[in-house]
Amino acid sequence: MSLRTAISLFLEEYPEAIKKPFSGNAVADFIRNEIPIIIEKIIDKNPRYLVNGSAGQGNWAKAPWAAVYDRFITESAQDGYYIVYLVKEDFTGVYLSLNQGVTSVRKQYGSKAKLALRVRAADFVARIGKLPTGVTTGEIDLNSSDSSNLSSLYEAGSICSKYYPLTLIPTDEELASDLQAFINIYYLLMSRETQLYERIDAEEEGLQLDEEDFRKLREHKHLERNRKLASRAKKIHGYVCMACGFDFEKKYGGIGKEFIEAHHLTPISDLKGQLLKLDPRKDFAVLCSNCHRMIHRTSLVNNISGFKTKHVLDNNT
Ligand SMILES: [Zn+2]
Ligand SMILES: [Zn+2]
Repeated sequence: MSLRTAISLFLEEYPEAIKKPFSGNAVADFIRNEIPIIIEKIIDKNPRYLVNGSAGQGNWAKAPWAAVYDRFITESAQDGYYIVYLVKEDFTGVYLSLNQGVTSVRKQYGSKAKLALRVRAADFVARIGKLPTGVTTGEIDLNSSDSSNLSSLYEAGSICSKYYPLTLIPTDEELASDLQAFINIYYLLMSRETQLYERIDAEEEGLQLDEEDFRKLREHKHLERNRKLASRAKKIHGYVCMACGFDFEKKYGGIGKEFIEAHHLTPISDLKGQLLKLDPRKDFAVLCSNCHRMIHRTSLVNNISGFKTKHVLDNNT
């Protein structure tokens, strides 16, 4: 079955199905078990994403939904933010929406939940920047029958969305490319959020960074996380801290074997457009976790022997 057929089923079969008992119902079963398989196929079964479909728990939900969670952000419809197909309560159409876990927001904000959802949605939108054509921001209209039910919270929680009216459901190709576009937006938000945390980490460590310093630090960390480069640097330089002589294997035995951190030496501003020429021998050092954090608190970040002389106090190597 295709996604297009699945969406029609949401809209056409569901209103009939809910007149029958929930337990053991084939339509409810289909939404729970088959729809996730259809969606997983479109996103290449990427294990990063978890897909869920629901027609309610124990009882029919007013409207069925299917969600895609980035496991780095959430694994449930209650928290975080995620991609979700939401059906209008009058079954005249379906939204593809990047939306929020409204349950946890309601728990936290009570009667002010809608306001909180709107504020957060606007904040997410600001972080996305330019949206693909056809994707709109702002509240959606699920025709909710009650101003405090879940549908009504999802209306306020929508970050960006695309609407498919029952009379005009696009081709499977278009549905798939829309879903892919939402996956990209979702991923972008996640990675920008990570940058935000890195900034908070840096600030918590007491590093006073202006915009330019922060950009350099971020690029520096990215380089060090480049596995290929880092592991070549480690093979070349060995697994003993070049500043203090700490040896993880000596201290921790087997779990410390070949553990060390790669630290990038060449100032980033000198590297414009030359990342491919990075030399793991010349441009990297290896440091234990303590020295690595400490060297970033000094102005000797590119100078191991200077750091060693000035800051490694019980220097016995
Ligand atoms: Zn060290
Ligand atoms: Zn470093």
